[in-house]
Amino acid sequence: MNTLDILKELQAAHDGLRTIQRDLSILPPEMVHLNTSVKAADKRFQEIEKNIAKAKVQLEAAERQCQQAVKSEAHARKELKASAHKVQYTAAMRELDEKERQLENAQRTLAETKVAIKSMETESENLVLSRNEYQRQFDELHEIFLAEHENQVVAKDRLTKQVDELGSKLDATTLNKFNRLVQNRGGKAIVAVENSNCTGCNTKLRTPLIYQIKAEGSIICEYCQRFLYLSQ
Ligand SMILES: [Zn+2]
Repeated sequence: MNTLDILKELQAAHDGLRTIQRDLSILPPEMVHLNTSVKAADKRFQEIEKNIAKAKVQLEAAERQCQQAVKSEAHARKELKASAHKVQYTAAMRELDEKERQLENAQRTLAETKVAIKSMETESENLVLSRNEYQRQFDELHEIFLAEHENQVVAKDRLTKQVDELGSKLDATTLNKFNRLVQNRGGKAIVAVENSNCTGCNTKLRTPLIYQIKAEGSIICEYCQRFLYLSQ
């Protein structure tokens, strides 16, 4: 088999694969819905985990504040006991009131942060459960879907193997070029010349190129770089 024939067959195999992949990617609405649910759950899970991490940093700060407030309150209490004069006592009393209030606030913040974390953790756990359930249902339907499309699955395997085999018959430079074209030129790496036009980019080829292609069997399009051959 000459290079041109290999390239043509390789193109046919890629065309077949593309059709099959399109068929296999058109999932029934139920599966699309489940797939969307899995993705939405994954996204929400990541958000919650980020928020939990943030809240845990806040929790540490709240704990430190609380410890500080306990110490300050104890200190104010001691000062109050030690105050001998009425003026001193009144000031110490005011100070203790203030410290007690600060301690209460710190304790409230700490408790609220703990509750918030607990609630997010519960949501996260439930989310994982429902996500896994969506995934399980999707996998179950996917297995049925693939069984229903057994012909395509078999053909896909066969064509994938054929692509590998044909590729191994080409030199590395040609194969790389071909694969790049398949990727970047709408799946078409080799196209026919019809009425002196490249059917890939619909550009008229210069006359010398037509002679060259007649002599050599295959050339590269000057405009879209695709491999060209003369249609019979
Ligand atoms: Zn072209």
